[in-house]
Amino acid sequence: MDARVKSSTDAPPVVKRKIALVAHDNKKRDLLEWAKFNRGTLAQHILYATGTTGALLEKELGLDIIKLQSGPLGGDQQIGAKIAEGEIDFLIFFWDPLEPLPHDPDVKALLRIAVVWNIPVACNRASADFIISSPLMSQPYERLLPDYTRHIERAMRVMD
Ligand code: PGA
Repeated sequence: MDARVKSSTDAPPVVKRKIALVAHDNKKRDLLEWAKFNRGTLAQHILYATGTTGALLEKELGLDIIKLQSGPLGGDQQIGAKIAEGEIDFLIFFWDPLEPLPHDPDVKALLRIAVVWNIPVACNRASADFIISSPLMSQPYERLLPDYTRHIERAMRVMD
């Protein structure tokens, strides 16, 4: 058979996404339940998480997770840096809307940088469900990157 002709039993190729997962303490149970329900899908991708979230997910799912620092110790900022470097495809971030936290500025920064780089973000289970079940999960997807050239040039002119 011509190698280019796919037989009808061929499964569609898996597009590996790089997914970052973060949950505040009061939301960790929520994220763990969601991740357990979606374990089969998550297992096909590359998973990153802040320290404690990652350790819990690893234990619950039995999957390898790239664990960063705990959120309050810089983990949110590490994920933000990876987004800025183009290393993360989307973010599942169950933040707590009812509790002030010591690293609230980092939380805001992470949400902001995800918007700057046009990364899909789910902040609760319903939006996480919509993202994980999107047909785009299994298709190549070219995320539009905003053109920040004018912003960069503007900053350079300040130095003239
Ligand atoms: P943690 O961090 O996974 O280490 O608990 C999450 C956060 O508070 O941002």
